[in-house]
Amino acid sequence: MNIDGYGRIAVVTGAGQGLGLSIAKDLLESGKKVVLIDVNKQALEEIKNSEFIQSKYEARSMFLEIDVANVQEIRSGVGAIIQKWGRIDILVNNAGVRKETAIEDIDIEEWNDIVSVNLGGTFFFSQAVIDTMKKQKWGRIINMSSFGGQFGPLTSGAHYCASKAGQLVLTKVFARELADKGITVNTIAPAAIRTPEMEKIDPQKLEKIISNIPVGRVGEETEVSKLVSYLISESAGYITGSTFDINGGLLMR
Ligand code: ADP
Repeated sequence: MNIDGYGRIAVVTGAGQGLGLSIAKDLLESGKKVVLIDVNKQALEEIKNSEFIQSKYEARSMFLEIDVANVQEIRSGVGAIIQKWGRIDILVNNAGVRKETAIEDIDIEEWNDIVSVNLGGTFFFSQAVIDTMKKQKWGRIINMSSFGGQFGPLTSGAHYCASKAGQLVLTKVFARELADKGITVNTIAPAAIRTPEMEKIDPQKLEKIISNIPVGRVGEETEVSKLVSYLISESAGYITGSTFDINGGLLMR
């Protein structure tokens, strides 16, 4: 079956704002049915009632309030999607929390909060969809990591960086275990993308980062979402277990 473009069911976590929302919009514009997931109910309501959704995409969108750190919520959400649309083809693990806490100030609660959303959410959401993807013999999982998970902090704490680094190896483990099932799993690792999160970064720090970016500017959300579009396409079936840097050449390897 080739239902690329039209008919595919995509799930995007952390779709309430920023990169996740851009990715979800792109998927809708390219004909997919899209499930927008976030812990922020108000953000989901606003998107649901927006002109963008109401004018064209109401029938092809679904909104679920899920905390990705809660395995029960993930499982019942996945059950609701399968009940509504019968399959899940694409999962973008984008929900995340970032904090800029110094090592000595990170307590166990903050550590657990960050790791259970960024890393636990990626693992348990992926775990919850692979059964249906295996049955379909087709699936695409994209884990949204970060520069911080590859090279250490630019603006984030040790817990954030460790959780983002964990996603890189989860990608490889899932990619290897699922490679012969028609499921690809890849990581995108952005840095310095213009999102609402960027506004929280200390302006002086940000200026210093930008001065080190060879392309001389920050990245745009759509530059990331277009990469997602390619990786989830039919043509990208030979790409799995890979990490895609999107950082304006900030650090090359
Ligand atoms: P980015 O733009 O890099 O994705 P943001 O912080 O702007 O970063 O977006 C992350 C999204 O993830 C937000 O909409 C936020 O509400 C969502 N999110 C954070 N924690 C959770 C969680 N536990 N479960 C689901 N979504 C979450």
